[in-house]
Amino acid sequence: MCGGEDLDSYLEEFRSQGQSQCTNVWSKGNIAYRCRTCQTKDSSAICVSCFQGGNHWEHDYVMYHSESGGCCDCGDRGAWRESGFCITHQHVHVGDAAVKEELEKITHSVVRYVLVELLSWVIKLKEEPSYMNWRSMTMIYLSWLQKVCAVDALRNIVCNDIVAIHVSKQSHGNPVSPLDVLLEYLPSMPEKIIEEETTLFLQLLYKNEFKDDFLLVLKNKYEDMIISAVHDKYYLENYKHLDTNLDRVMVQLFNDPDKTTELIHKYNLLELFIGVFCNVVSSSAEK
Ligand SMILES: [Zn+2]
Ligand SMILES: [Zn+2]
Ligand SMILES: [Zn+2]
Repeated sequence: MCGGEDLDSYLEEFRSQGQSQCTNVWSKGNIAYRCRTCQTKDSSAICVSCFQGGNHWEHDYVMYHSESGGCCDCGDRGAWRESGFCITHQHVHVGDAAVKEELEKITHSVVRYVLVELLSWVIKLKEEPSYMNWRSMTMIYLSWLQKVCAVDALRNIVCNDIVAIHVSKQSHGNPVSPLDVLLEYLPSMPEKIIEEETTLFLQLLYKNEFKDDFLLVLKNKYEDMIISAVHDKYYLENYKHLDTNLDRVMVQLFNDPDKTTELIHKYNLLELFIGVFCNVVSSSAEK
């Protein structure tokens, strides 16, 4: 499963069963489409291949250069009319996607191995962000996870393991989840890695249930991420990349009105965001 070809044929087996929706994620500057005839929300958009595979020629559509990136809504009945789904995501009614029982254990161990390897490179990279070799190693593991997360059943496994396993950041530190480490070190990563880690988060956030796990961790890191920009000059230089990518996360996190209302109440998000805003204002005034 680790080798390129084996992984591709393993993934193809899942793809052939049909994926409930497109999970293509694009970053800033990429092309995407909106179609007023098909979209049900102002923010809905689809990727180029879903647009080309759908029937929009007589529709009120527009191609645009995405300013902050986005996620494809093709196949999501909450964001796009079914008649506008592309050929790949139309009439697909997959049940709860799952890996065959006999493959489940091995798939978990491979995903866990990759997560631990990814973290070891992220931790090194935090100390020396300019070291190209460490960047490349981080990218290898990130790309593997992104590839795997394009498949419903395997994405479920990554969503589980990224919060379920525990690793130590330092030799004496308390063990924390991979998501905890990734979010804590995100601001210290080079621009490209921030972007690719965010893409992975967006893929995972296609699963509505993962939004809870994600917010539980983000909520404890969010204030530090923002406040550090006021105090730390180096951090501030990197901050605009972080800020753009946090925006991408927020759009996906809060794309479902019912789920958003639930999250806001459950995690006191208004208090959190207002509190952080007040702290930024008072920290800036002190300077
Ligand atoms: Zn798509
Ligand atoms: Zn599609
Ligand atoms: Zn359309």
